[in-house]
Amino acid sequence: MVLDSAVDIVAGVDSFDYVVVGAGTAGCVIASRLSEDPSVRVALLEAGPADGPVAMKDPAGFPALLGSEVDWGFTTTPQAALRDARIFYPRGRVLGGSSSINGSAHLRAHRASYDEWLDAGATGWGYDDLLPYFRRSEHAEGRDPRYRGVGGPMRVGLPPEVAPFEAAAHKAVRQLGHPVAEDLNGADQEGVGWVELNVVDGQRQSAADAYIHPVTAARPNLTVLTGVLARHLVLDGRRCTGVVYGQQGQQRQVRATREVVLCAGAIGSPQLLMLSGIGPADHLRRHGIDVTVDLRAVGQNLQDHPAAMAVYTATRPTAYEIPNPRRLVAMLKTQPGLAAPDIQLLFWNFAFVPPTVAAPDPGFTLGSCVMRPRSRGSVALASGDPEAAPLIDPGFLTDPADVRQLVTGLRLARSAAGTSALAGWQDKEFLPGAGIDTDDQLGDYVRDNLFSAYHPVGTCRMGTGRDAVVDPALCVRGVDGLRVVDASVMPTLVAANPNATVLAIAERAAELIARTSTTAGRV
Ligand SMILES: Cc1cc2nc3c(=O)[nH]c(=O)nc-3n(C[C@H](O)[C@H](O)[C@H](O)COP(=O)(O)OP(=O)(O)OC[C@H]3O[C@@H](n4cnc5c(N)ncnc54)[C@H](O)[C@@H]3O)c2cc1C
Repeated sequence: MVLDSAVDIVAGVDSFDYVVVGAGTAGCVIASRLSEDPSVRVALLEAGPADGPVAMKDPAGFPALLGSEVDWGFTTTPQAALRDARIFYPRGRVLGGSSSINGSAHLRAHRASYDEWLDAGATGWGYDDLLPYFRRSEHAEGRDPRYRGVGGPMRVGLPPEVAPFEAAAHKAVRQLGHPVAEDLNGADQEGVGWVELNVVDGQRQSAADAYIHPVTAARPNLTVLTGVLARHLVLDGRRCTGVVYGQQGQQRQVRATREVVLCAGAIGSPQLLMLSGIGPADHLRRHGIDVTVDLRAVGQNLQDHPAAMAVYTATRPTAYEIPNPRRLVAMLKTQPGLAAPDIQLLFWNFAFVPPTVAAPDPGFTLGSCVMRPRSRGSVALASGDPEAAPLIDPGFLTDPADVRQLVTGLRLARSAAGTSALAGWQDKEFLPGAGIDTDDQLGDYVRDNLFSAYHPVGTCRMGTGRDAVVDPALCVRGVDGLRVVDASVMPTLVAANPNATVLAIAERAAELIARTSTTAGRV
């Protein structure tokens, strides 16, 4: 094990039953649920601050947070299929993690996404298994109780007002013959639907707002440490017994008598495992890290939703003085025989353009997002320094099927823009623009103008065998006293924005942990 020399070790070790690393979507659920038992002591460690800029409260304000002090502000490695472009890759670095800087959309995927996990060896994680935990996580009033929960910490709902552009876009999708989904989180998971948001009284509700802030005052058994960067796990042989973290230039250690639960997200969790000697042996040795467990799957299987935009100049203003209006998406099948939707169409009342292009105003955007991408990438270490950003390679569009899907999505977006419902809104297509029509031309446009939906998953994949990092109980293979619970454990990326799924995974994991973890010498 390479120990840090950059910081001084401070004497004295705090001890808890559970140490949860990363206070993002999953970490907030885990720490909150485990500390419901007053006899259990829980520490929650977060690299970022306890709070951030005012824009964090505004559910539509997330663009202002990108690149701010509450964003890790990563960039991908040069993307081979995108002519070596580097893609901006934000992740939340604050209490609440990415749920504090995300778009607040609360969406479950079609049941097929979860049932596919069963085939990947994730026994116990199919849709019917997860449904009680989706329900437990949420408070959604007036919905079908077979699918939706009331009384859970995460309050979700539809903004009351529909703005004219969104109403026209909703009609446009209907005019194309697609169904209306009354509740995309319920029985109807195909068609155009209004997006439920994690918003309460017009303000963002992050996982910290839902799970941590309401309970901290009443729970002396829950310790939340912010501004602390976990540097590596402490391993006693093959048992994980704690975490070494850095705080204000000093190195400290915290001990876990039952378990360490890694919730550092799809980028942070594999990085921390590798920094701790758990990962592909050759790669670790190249960075001077002693290998404790040769686990080749750590950091592999990175998946994300790629997106491409059709942008229009508008004939009239598309933005209104409505705070937080309703948003819509369409979950569509690109072929009739598919079991589940594979494209998400997005409708934005502004022109979303690459940073090098001046946005037309007024304008609007019809985006298409590949829900079941086939491309795979990886997270690797750039160095053995815990403060160095890892190498993030989502492998965007390395599978040509993803290019074809995006081209199909752009054609669908163009059809929607061409309906009579949107005819009165569209002046002309700004991007891709007139004359970009063939598959090759649109494929080139997609490669030159790709966006990430910021939904990385899969890098500590759950399953069985050598391609899995964690087993179906989320325990790291070959290590005792260590689990991973966050977006990284998904075997495949679900066909929806992933935050609601991460909440459900963490709810189920908290129950598993409370039921099965043992004390390894409580002090
Ligand atoms: C800009 C943006 C918009 C998005 N919009 C949506 C949306 O509208 N709807 C949706 O469903 N999903 C959205 N997502 C994705 C969604 O927010 C994530 O999938 C989800 O939050 C992931 O949860 P997690 O617990 O796996 O990781 P995170 O929430 O990212 O939490 C990881 C936490 O670990 C901390 N951490 C990492 N490393 C360390 C370390 N070494 N020491 C201490 N702490 C550490 C991080 O600071 C962070 O707080 C968006 C994401 C982004 C970035």
